[in-house]
Amino acid sequence: MRKFLAVLLTLLATPILAADPIPPQLRLGDVAAPKSYEVQLAIDPREGEFTGEVRIAFRVNRRTPILWLNATDLRIDRVEMTQGERRLNIRVIKGGEDFVGFEAEGAPFFPGDALAVIRYRGDIESSATRGIFRQLDGGEWYAISQFESMSARRAFPCFDEPGWKVPWQLTIDTLAANEVASNSPETLAFDLPGRPGWKRHVFARTKPLPSYLVALAVGPFDVVGGGTAGINHTPLRYFTPKGRAIEARFAKESTPRLLELLEQYFGMPYPYEKLDSVTIPAAVGFGAMENAGMITYSSSLLLARGHEETLEFKRRYAAVGAHEMAHMWFGDLVTPMWWDDIWLNEAFATWMARKVLASYNPEYDAGWRRGESRRRAITADQLVSARRIHNPITNKDDVSAAFDRITYDKGAEVLAMFETWLGPDRFQQGVRDYFKKHAWGNATSRDFFGAIGKAAGRSESALKAFEAFVDQPGIPLVDVALRCEGVKVSMDVSQQRLRTKGSTAPDLHWTTPACFRYRADGEVKTQCVEIGNERRNVVLAGAKSCPDWLVGNAGGRGHWVARYEASLARRNTEHLDELPANEAMTLAFDTSLLAGAGLMPVDSALRLSDALLRNPSAAVKTAGVFLVEKQRDVLLTPAQMDVKREILAKRIQPLAREVGWNEHGGDSDDVHELRVLLLPYAARSLGGEGLRPEARELALRWAAKRDSVPAAMAQPILDTAARFADDATYAKLEDTAFAMRRINEKTMILKALAKVHDPALRDRAFSLALRKAQASDAIGGRDTYNFIEQALEDEDNQLAAFAYVRTNWDSLVAKFPPETPARLTTPLATLCTPQERATFHDFFQDRSPQFLGGAQRYQQALESIDICNAVYH
Ligand SMILES: [Zn+2]
Repeated sequence: MRKFLAVLLTLLATPILAADPIPPQLRLGDVAAPKSYEVQLAIDPREGEFTGEVRIAFRVNRRTPILWLNATDLRIDRVEMTQGERRLNIRVIKGGEDFVGFEAEGAPFFPGDALAVIRYRGDIESSATRGIFRQLDGGEWYAISQFESMSARRAFPCFDEPGWKVPWQLTIDTLAANEVASNSPETLAFDLPGRPGWKRHVFARTKPLPSYLVALAVGPFDVVGGGTAGINHTPLRYFTPKGRAIEARFAKESTPRLLELLEQYFGMPYPYEKLDSVTIPAAVGFGAMENAGMITYSSSLLLARGHEETLEFKRRYAAVGAHEMAHMWFGDLVTPMWWDDIWLNEAFATWMARKVLASYNPEYDAGWRRGESRRRAITADQLVSARRIHNPITNKDDVSAAFDRITYDKGAEVLAMFETWLGPDRFQQGVRDYFKKHAWGNATSRDFFGAIGKAAGRSESALKAFEAFVDQPGIPLVDVALRCEGVKVSMDVSQQRLRTKGSTAPDLHWTTPACFRYRADGEVKTQCVEIGNERRNVVLAGAKSCPDWLVGNAGGRGHWVARYEASLARRNTEHLDELPANEAMTLAFDTSLLAGAGLMPVDSALRLSDALLRNPSAAVKTAGVFLVEKQRDVLLTPAQMDVKREILAKRIQPLAREVGWNEHGGDSDDVHELRVLLLPYAARSLGGEGLRPEARELALRWAAKRDSVPAAMAQPILDTAARFADDATYAKLEDTAFAMRRINEKTMILKALAKVHDPALRDRAFSLALRKAQASDAIGGRDTYNFIEQALEDEDNQLAAFAYVRTNWDSLVAKFPPETPARLTTPLATLCTPQERATFHDFFQDRSPQFLGGAQRYQQALESIDICNAVYH
């Protein structure tokens, strides 16, 4: 009571009494907590607005005059709140972008249970894919939800933080012709009295879920039954756009097995009653989403016509499907307490998916693409501005930034590295214990380290090595030199933080579990050691004679980069033919990284690429194409350019002619992968002129009949045809783009047109971005964004596209999906002169931070530009 009096006196003494109270910053705090929700929505996907009513049972923990909830762009029509018998008199208070306040007039909320019933209206977004959004596919409208991370508040007022896990019950009204899916099974559906042509769908109360995992989909979907899978015979279904049921074939074939492999690893059944896989025609900013019991996929990930079922499609679906299904345990069953531990979701799902993929089909765990996650992780982590995996969250930008390559890829690499170190069986036991202990609840990094440490028989302090990778940014660079002194064979190793040329970043310390592979005495051997920052001599226990070659990152794994002393580097290049493919590919990537960072001479990179291209393995040749392509003409000295010309003439062009645009029966998966990278590169390089008319021919054939060229080659062929298009080819491609009914085919042609070389045609292509939308030739915000991004990524069109962006910025921003404009800084990270840097800085310094996550994107791109300048100028 005394406290209350003090508040009253303060209020009386404050002259600005009439002003609205200030909403919370970022988080709601612990004044109140939800107990359960009942949500009723009326959705017509053809319309831009929906109506809703939410009943929230909640507990008030402390006396408070105002209850704040999260809400964004919701129009509140009516509010009723009760506490026991008492009906509160509520005044609604505007709370800015993220909140709405409910002020109890007269007497405040008191500790205890309460009930809120709120009627409101909200937007069905048409350009963004967040909140409840709608999309047109094949002439039909679909409305789908995407709530992670902070968009459930666009669909209903709620406690929108991952720490609050409670049951939800959804009821959805829509036109009778629509199918409806949500997290749980439908329990009842009936014609809606008083609203002819509408139906009500009632869904079962869910298991405890945080708001970001609630989901719904409404539209004239085809629903494909997928039988059952796993320990509990979980029913599976696939929701495709109308008329496309047949395209779910591979998903239907592979999903049950993927789910069963996950159950086996976790030693626990799939946690929900059913699993629906729902198509989003075209998602922006994400590919798929792990809503409990209802995973959503961008159409190109889930669906393929017969000829589109390429190796790459299958591998991608299996990887993404396994990732999203792994989330049913990592993220859904056990949810991070707060966004700073989102890596407990994303790193784990990525790591787990790779494990499942390798069991599902070992061929999917091979080839050049296998190392993609490690390459992305290291590329991101070499920057001083890189985040750490476990990063504090203090504002909305931090939440958005948490979903980056560090979380997904570095997180997964580090998990794999420590799984090997601690022993896969003990690691698995730790994961199982962690799930048992925290099922249906929330957990933190600390909980995870505790469970793993206990199962591995290690004290928490021994896990410090693991934590050093999670709680520190950056990547270790390990210098390796071979010592062969008579019968004693050893290597000198020393470690420091990888710092690009000119970097002033402080050094960091790690204990790195590192495995080396070498060939000695006619045998390939592996040796694992723990490396600290002190220089160390390590005896190669299994070698009696000097190894022919020796490389770090055995098997192409490990979140660290090896740099070989000159004579060892030469030895490795000379014996490249004997290196296992994974080691050779890792060597190619690490060399490209070190050369680009100014930590290794470009000449060594060129020498290695020549050796890689001579290797008999198609996967290793692909690594060679990658490495030579990375040595950009504009950055080379005349002498280096001569070497590169020779590689192009002697290796790249003959190889491209041999491999060809068209697939040959009997091509291995590695050859398919090589072709995708090699042919378009050869066609635009010196001596590749002959490949261009062939590409034009094939592109026109594709335009007439989609299955007339191999699906994996369609984009490279279109890109090449457009890049070197004459007036007639350009006109044909542009006409075809606007005649396409499928979103992804139209997007493919537009992406190609962004690469047109001829200046007059390029101006014509760029003008498509802002062409006034006619019914027949509209380019929506998503396509406009993709188009501009592609133009900026194209080495030859980058500067012209950047000039176009600067001139038309305001119109482009008005058209792009919200939150995307700052992403354009990323393709510009390859700019590399002082003048370009100045232009980039002047233009984006103030503009990029205006968008969610934009400050960080700008900073990282600028740092990459600075590195390139420091290395080459
Ligand atoms: Zn994920």
